[in-house]
Amino acid sequence: MENTALLATLSRLVAFDTVSSHSNVELIDWVAGRLAEHGIQAFVQHGTEAGKANLYATIGPADQAGVMLSGHSDVVPVAGQNWTSDPFTLTRRDTRLYGRGAADMKGFIACVLEMVPRFAAAQLTQPVHVALSYNEETDMRGMRVLAEHLAGLPVRPAACVIGEPTSMQVVVANKGAAIYRVRVRGFSVHSSLRDQGVSAVEVAAEVICFLGALQERLRDAGRNDGFEFPHTSIHVGKIEGGTAHNITARDCTFIFEIRALPGVRAATLLEEVRAHCVGTILPRLHQVSTECAIDFEPIVDTPGLDEGGNRNLAQAMMPLCGCHALGRVSFGTEGGILQDIGVPTIICGPGEIRVAHQPDEYVEIEQLERCMAFLETLCHRLERTRVS
Ligand SMILES: [Zn+2]
Repeated sequence: MENTALLATLSRLVAFDTVSSHSNVELIDWVAGRLAEHGIQAFVQHGTEAGKANLYATIGPADQAGVMLSGHSDVVPVAGQNWTSDPFTLTRRDTRLYGRGAADMKGFIACVLEMVPRFAAAQLTQPVHVALSYNEETDMRGMRVLAEHLAGLPVRPAACVIGEPTSMQVVVANKGAAIYRVRVRGFSVHSSLRDQGVSAVEVAAEVICFLGALQERLRDAGRNDGFEFPHTSIHVGKIEGGTAHNITARDCTFIFEIRALPGVRAATLLEEVRAHCVGTILPRLHQVSTECAIDFEPIVDTPGLDEGGNRNLAQAMMPLCGCHALGRVSFGTEGGILQDIGVPTIICGPGEIRVAHQPDEYVEIEQLERCMAFLETLCHRLERTRVS
């Protein structure tokens, strides 16, 4: 038996080119229109950025907390990737559906939309909230804005399921993700007079060595074996600076990330790095030139998802999706943002994370069917009882 309506919905969703750098408003308006066909009024929250919007819609009794089903509407770019078929045309080959976002995460959104008539017809004692965000793949700005709206509601959702691809397993924790840009200002002289100048490249190297030592200390400080890399990780991914071999470099910039275990705040670690720069490195540089500086610019800082706050929700959800063991993932999600406003959140959705962001991204039809069965069971549950 095949759900052709579901495939048509996914096909339509994939056809919207919602790469994060583009607008997602057409997709949001289309979803709002579909909800309106079932008498559901969606709140479209336009972002401060042009061409960006979130959507939030409640089905069932709005004075009750209910369950939020959340997906990000944006996808990662396809530029430079070698696709077998057009990434924005959902293409079936055997049991797989190929297209950008098929797994991450328009497959989940399609399932939720296909369930809307069922949710609308059910006698829900607890509501279902459909939430779509923007820019999850860049700075998670959409969910930050939507969370502000949710925090101001008289009743917040009691629980949230984010349908990132987990092969329909329940994921209870993910690491945080913080990215920083460091700008080092040195002092240029002819390199033959090196003690009268400061090489920004060498100072950057010194800071990077400190980050490396910090990583080793984090390794010794403890571990969480639920994660493939069981520590908070620090990584320097990009550096540029200097002009020539015989000029002490005036400028050097590098970018590093901190993937913090749940419960660890990247900002606290950053303070340690900053304190070392201010207390140890800069005084030495200022003896040569007061122009020398080390500036830290936070690019993004998303909290991790901590399983402590969502264990009850996870226990309630596991039998609904046939999951036997709770998972922890190293990729970032919007879960920590929702947890920060008091909404327990788990991650559970169709498809595999390993095909996400890749050329020939796909979702197995069987995964979509499992997601539909999960939502059907959830609907049944919400007709009778509280979920958490
Ligand atoms: Zn995703």
